Amino acid sequence: MAKPIVGLHHVTAIASDPQRNLDFYTQVLGLRFVKRTINFDDPGSYHFYFGDDVGSPGTILTFFPWPHATRGSLGVGETSETAFSVPLASMEFWENRLLAAGVPAERAGQRFEEEVLSFADPDGLRLEIVGHAGAGFAKVPRTSDVPAEHAVRGFFGVTLCEGGYESTVDVLTILGLRKIGEHGARFRFAAEGNALGNYIDVLVQPQLTYGRMGAGSVHHIAFRAADDASQLEWREVIAATSLNVTPVLDRTYFHSIYFREPGGVLFEIATDPPGFALDEPVESLGETLKLPPWLEPQRSRVERALPAIELHHHK
Ligand code: ZN
Repeated sequence: MAKPIVGLHHVTAIASDPQRNLDFYTQVLGLRFVKRTINFDDPGSYHFYFGDDVGSPGTILTFFPWPHATRGSLGVGETSETAFSVPLASMEFWENRLLAAGVPAERAGQRFEEEVLSFADPDGLRLEIVGHAGAGFAKVPRTSDVPAEHAVRGFFGVTLCEGGYESTVDVLTILGLRKIGEHGARFRFAAEGNALGNYIDVLVQPQLTYGRMGAGSVHHIAFRAADDASQLEWREVIAATSLNVTPVLDRTYFHSIYFREPGGVLFEIATDPPGFALDEPVESLGETLKLPPWLEPQRSRVERALPAIELHHHK
């Protein structure tokens, strides 16, 4: 038996302006810029990773910032909201901080047992801060001015906007998630335990059409595999269904398999190891451009093609 999937590993979304994206996630949300690299499938553009102080699985929000990307439009077959976990007592702090930064944030009230604050990033990516009693301790980014007690812990979970229910839920069930609640058109699934990012909500919206990917869209979500052996076992499980799963791909900081769930959302299973300290010390994560070994010989050409960015520190 493969080791269970305990929650999300990362969420990857599309942005437009790289500097604006970097500033929002580091300066407003107080996340750490844990890796500055390029899109392995498109070395002319960046791949940014944000997370907690050490880039723990379950805290990693990544972006492809494409300066000329047009905005996406939300529809079914997409991850419609990405939610961060904070303690219940931090909701007021976050509401005030977002409003002070000029980010319209709205208290969406109670959802199941949690309090929800809804807002969007500068590209329109729909985000939530979820205050709940189960929030653990944060590995607080050393680069952030957010007080430790209020720091974003990592992911609470995501909401999948779907045209149907059955076939998506079948896949979540295969991955070991169980339904723990429902309210209206929202069905909540959870992985065993209380790891970060263990909640997946399925929001059934049959009246919507398919969305169009663009800036402000989530590109895919990744679940965690404990190690390479577990990932191969999960790959066997998925390959035994009608889902079309990729071979294992080397993403340097983790290894990945991808498959599209029948509702249209691209799923990935990524390994916890080797992690983001693979090619630079934890002390200086994100400070310099990291390239995969096969692109290192072309570093000066790759660097020239990328827009300049500046990393600001609060501390
Ligand atoms: Zn990914």
